[in-house]
Amino acid sequence: MAELTDLGVRDLVAGYQAKKFSAVDVAEAHVKKIEKENGALNAYLEVFSDAVDSAKIADARLASEGNTQNPLLGVPVALKDNILIKGKIASAASKILANHTATYDATVVKKLREKGAVFLGRTNMDEFAMGSSTEHSAYGPARNPYDISRVPGGSSGGSAAAVAGKLATVALGSETCGSIRQPSSLCGLVGLKPTYGAVSRSGLIAMGSSLDQIGSFGRSVYDVETVFNATKGHDPLDGTTLPDYAEKQAKNKKIGVPWAFVKDAQPDVQEAFAKELKELSAKGYEIVDIEFPSAPFGLAAYYIVMPAEVSTNLARLDGMRYGYHAEGKDLFEEYAKSRAEGFGAETRRRIILGSYVLTSGYYDAYYRKATALRGVLAEDLKKAFDTVSYIATPTTPGPAFKLGEKSDPVSMYLEDIFAAPANLTGIPAISVPKATVMRDDVSLPVGIQFMSPKYTEASLFSIAKDVVGEGA
Ligand code: GLN
Repeated sequence: MAELTDLGVRDLVAGYQAKKFSAVDVAEAHVKKIEKENGALNAYLEVFSDAVDSAKIADARLASEGNTQNPLLGVPVALKDNILIKGKIASAASKILANHTATYDATVVKKLREKGAVFLGRTNMDEFAMGSSTEHSAYGPARNPYDISRVPGGSSGGSAAAVAGKLATVALGSETCGSIRQPSSLCGLVGLKPTYGAVSRSGLIAMGSSLDQIGSFGRSVYDVETVFNATKGHDPLDGTTLPDYAEKQAKNKKIGVPWAFVKDAQPDVQEAFAKELKELSAKGYEIVDIEFPSAPFGLAAYYIVMPAEVSTNLARLDGMRYGYHAEGKDLFEEYAKSRAEGFGAETRRRIILGSYVLTSGYYDAYYRKATALRGVLAEDLKKAFDTVSYIATPTTPGPAFKLGEKSDPVSMYLEDIFAAPANLTGIPAISVPKATVMRDDVSLPVGIQFMSPKYTEASLFSIAKDVVGEGA
């Protein structure tokens, strides 16, 4: 007999309709499991004391209006700690915002609240979403439910560990460069990075504003699709949101594979990837070799553009108006001490790097070139998408790695090699769990990634369903 914490959105919808259980039963089952298992996973930084109360409200709505039009009514959701919920702490897993209480709801939160989703708590992450392992959290690392000596990925690692560990039905995360897809790959989940501007960033603590996008984690394609449909849409509070658009279906069943780029994955991950493509070709897809010459440079461009934006976005955190404050002998020392003590090492590294690439002496050498490279990537992709509907790569070079294994920052940055093109060009991408590889006698998941042109999330969901089915 399945536990309530095992169920996906579709099972919950059916169970509520048949009155097999209530939203309170489901919320309580999750809270109980979190109490038991979060100690090992450190997926949640806080479980909301009003989670069961919001489930009561959902039950009242289920009784009065039902859920035929609204599949998220009574569904437990976990939220990354950089998404604002009015009246709750939002710390971006940083000491500098340890006591920062949000004064308004993020647009995604407002939308999910209107739909009657039940917010369980806020999840662990790399500080300000910088990292690929959740080890850069000021509150200790999160761990991978498949093997707790390994990382869940990052930066949205807490959200991924929560959904994979069945401590939430679905979760929201954010992506600046792979922070949903990479932990999805390492935790065996479906993860979507939507088209830039499809989902409002209002109320998301900014990292790299031209790259950031909110997306979701689920154990099935259907769950992720449902959350995307509930959260997308134009928002007057975010000038970069797109006008509402009808998602376009794929024009053909051609999948382009940039094999030279795929070689950056570990050998057994490449093998698993090739096997998945073979299965897709048996399902009527045509696999086509494509050139993607700028792809290997995406990561280098990202690690210039992103720190530049980070250094600007985090300048507002000076310890004066809110957040952590350290005393000093004069104003300059107060700024310096507040920021040095409030930010973790990786965050400080990126602020320094970002300030450097934006200085007038180096702007042309680094920042301008990286920005130009975004244009080249977009051109390469456009050329490829003239003939194919999808581009496939492994999501990550390997499966989950051990805590502490990538202490050299550059080895950690290389985790994002396959993620960078989508964020730099604004296209949507999805990671789908199918394959596993063995490490130390443990079977670990690795995802396959599909990218597609802007506005084509619907076609990503359809190919994802062809890989793993729709799910419960
Ligand atoms: N791992 C990437 C980084 O460290 C991605 C961050 C993200 O997507 N938020 O910057």
